[in-house]
Amino acid sequence: MNPACRLCAAPLTRTFVDLGMSPPCESYLRPDQLDEPETTYSLHVRICERCLLVQLPAHVAAEEIFTADYAYFSSYSDSWVAHAGRFVDDMAARLGLGAGSFVVEAASNDGYLLQHAVARGIRVLGVEPCGGVADAARALGVPTESVFLGERTGTEIAERHGPADLVVANNVLAHVPDLLDFVRGLRALVADGGTVSLEFPHLLRLIEGRQYDTIYHEHYSYFTLRTAAAALAAAGLAVVDVEELSTHGGSLRVLARPGEQRPSEMVEKVLADERAAGLHTVEGHTGFAQEVFEVKAGLLEFLLTAAREGRSVAGYGAPGKGNTLLNHCGVREDLLPFTVDRNPHKHGMHLPGTHIPVHPPERLAEVRPDYILILPWNLRAEIAQQIAYTREWGARLVVPIPRLEFV
Ligand SMILES: [Zn+2]
Repeated sequence: MNPACRLCAAPLTRTFVDLGMSPPCESYLRPDQLDEPETTYSLHVRICERCLLVQLPAHVAAEEIFTADYAYFSSYSDSWVAHAGRFVDDMAARLGLGAGSFVVEAASNDGYLLQHAVARGIRVLGVEPCGGVADAARALGVPTESVFLGERTGTEIAERHGPADLVVANNVLAHVPDLLDFVRGLRALVADGGTVSLEFPHLLRLIEGRQYDTIYHEHYSYFTLRTAAAALAAAGLAVVDVEELSTHGGSLRVLARPGEQRPSEMVEKVLADERAAGLHTVEGHTGFAQEVFEVKAGLLEFLLTAAREGRSVAGYGAPGKGNTLLNHCGVREDLLPFTVDRNPHKHGMHLPGTHIPVHPPERLAEVRPDYILILPWNLRAEIAQQIAYTREWGARLVVPIPRLEFV
């Protein structure tokens, strides 16, 4: 039986891209787990022929991933905290937020964003289902409710705390399995004259940049401005403005308000860009599977040629996106003997599915590989600087996406 669209409930009969079966991309393995069976889930992404939402059915439930010991603390990334600080400055200026205002954030994580509003004397509330990160937020002075946001919880919170002038839902929309319940929760939280702000990766950039490694099990929905506006409209929210950001390979920041609204020129511009790329039709989405094949062919040709010529290759980085890529391409230790990563929690671990070992970066200077394959391509400039010393022995840096390229 075909799964149903999470936005309009039509049966999903058409493939956007099928990356096969893969283990969850953050389930790194200890050496003693390597002989055990691994659970894999489908990465078969569909497009709805009725509403055009590109989506992955929620094979892995959000509750399994975002549990109490969920380890992702946003504050670990300095650049991310700075991005959040600029966001709060922008919104405070634009909406005139001050001491009498109330700001709520859905998926507020460890308070990395709301702490900037607290510093301005603005009343805030975080909504964060993961117990561990919610505790960290409270320690920063950010009051936090540990629930998933939906229509019921949003209504209850608004009854207790009052409606919000600003509801922030940055980088969460793509990760909610029950999309309609979530956007209704946003509507329940926001005041009739208030604003909702959302950030999410832009499907137009994913397609243009062949960023297929950003497809993973917890990334349930892949939005254009058109489909995001349709989801918001289902809850009575209208898009008023949009901004294009460079985060996550190219994201949109969308502002929406309750009721009828007049969209900005920028909204018309982004919708026109999407139409020019064909993303207003089902057919306009159908070339992506071939683009993905080209990336796979380029990477495998490079690795096979290097192996035949007796040249050594090492990886740099062990990001979740690298696991989508390596599993889809079927790369194992015979083609990529190891990768290195700066995160000490990953040292001595093995990548899910491919079982490629992860070492500290110092291993590069010991092994002196001929080629270094940069898996987090979005950080290629930063990484090329960090490992500039590898040029001493003539190592060449390689990125696999959007096409195989020597840096
Ligand atoms: Zn649909």
